[in-house]
Amino acid sequence: MTADREASVPFQRIILVHYHEIGLKGHNRSAFEKQLQKNIQELINDYPVVTIHRIAGRLVVFLREGTESQKALDCASHILGIPGVARVSAGFKCERDMELMGQACCAALAEAEGPKSFKVQARRNHTDFPINSMEMNVALGSVLCEAFPELKVQMKDPDATVGVEVVQNAVYIYAWSKRGIGGLPVGSSGKVVALLSSGIDSPVALWRMARRGARCFGVHFSGRPQTSDVSEYLVADIAEVLAKTGCIEAFYVVPFGDYQRQIALSAPPALRIVLYRRLMMRVAERLAERIHAGALVTGESLGQVASQTLDNIRATDAVVDCPVFRPLIGSDKLDIIDEAQRLGTFDLSSQDAPDCCTLFMPRQPETHAKIADLEAAEAAFPLEEWVEELCDSAERHDHHIADHFHN
Ligand code: ATP
Ligand code: MG
Repeated sequence: MTADREASVPFQRIILVHYHEIGLKGHNRSAFEKQLQKNIQELINDYPVVTIHRIAGRLVVFLREGTESQKALDCASHILGIPGVARVSAGFKCERDMELMGQACCAALAEAEGPKSFKVQARRNHTDFPINSMEMNVALGSVLCEAFPELKVQMKDPDATVGVEVVQNAVYIYAWSKRGIGGLPVGSSGKVVALLSSGIDSPVALWRMARRGARCFGVHFSGRPQTSDVSEYLVADIAEVLAKTGCIEAFYVVPFGDYQRQIALSAPPALRIVLYRRLMMRVAERLAERIHAGALVTGESLGQVASQTLDNIRATDAVVDCPVFRPLIGSDKLDIIDEAQRLGTFDLSSQDAPDCCTLFMPRQPETHAKIADLEAAEAAFPLEEWVEELCDSAERHDHHIADHFHN
């Protein structure tokens, strides 16, 4: 878009947010819409938003008059990552007047990313508009052909589609349109506690639960005071990324080093990892009870490392009553890495941090821990007291999650 074309756009900027309607019926649907609207409202309040309306099965975000193109598209991109959003289109609202609609189409098409071809797709939600959809397509298409002689009109799979939607008192026009992450709005599926290391997998596991609508609370077991608090900073940065799209509400840091040390001092080395994990699960379950969360989430993927065999997973599950979700259990590492990259947590997760799991690591961890052996080793520990102490020592971090650490 040339500078003068952009400067001369006299239309109000809007962002249309579409969601999937599959499985949304009756009461369910209105709760879904309200939740999504509330979430979006909270997450984009750094942008010049005037208001958000629910219109005809979609949300329409109205931006302040004069909002520049880049800012509007940044806002639209931000919305793409919010759970429950199936598609986002950014464009303009204009009056129901063909002359103005032609201008708005030009402004909209100028925002599509490098198209070589386009088509117009008009729709009337209100049939009181004198021109039908086909006629609109032709008339607006010819305005665009004149303004963009370098682009070709193409009906099948064009690079850009200029959407024109005639509603009751206005017309919405857009060409910038992208698929969102889908799923359900956070807040529509209860609460979970996700065990968050500073590694690659667990942030992805948490995110998957958030995309299914769960309110996620992280818990990180740090090696403090036996190690530095580097892993805590990394988890804070990871949480900040997840918080941008509302996928994490808060996280807890539990200083775990002293307890690990005690386990390492008295238990058979091969069992250490599973023993640490069992203690973490107990503490996470207690925390979940305190905040009325219904399940735990981990980032395990079957067979990925020694501690993630069926036997060891069974041994960790055995100490808790609540459901334990492992959204990555059947995922391949490379796919998890791709997802972490798209999510923006990969680079943070790839940094080295001595967390509690690198501390007191045995040389040959047991891959098939027997519950009886674990229970025998645990008999030496005042587990009930530990769980209570650890839970009490959990430090909660809310928004803005990372600021707290970096200031
Ligand atoms: P990740 O990439 O998530 O660190 P991993 O491949 O390193 O996982 P493990 O070290 O076996 O695998 O950890 C398995 C799961 O246990 C993690 O995904 C996480 O949910 C939980 N977990 C491990 N260490 C911690 C920790 N220090 N604090 C909280 N949760 C942890
Ligand atoms: Mg790890």
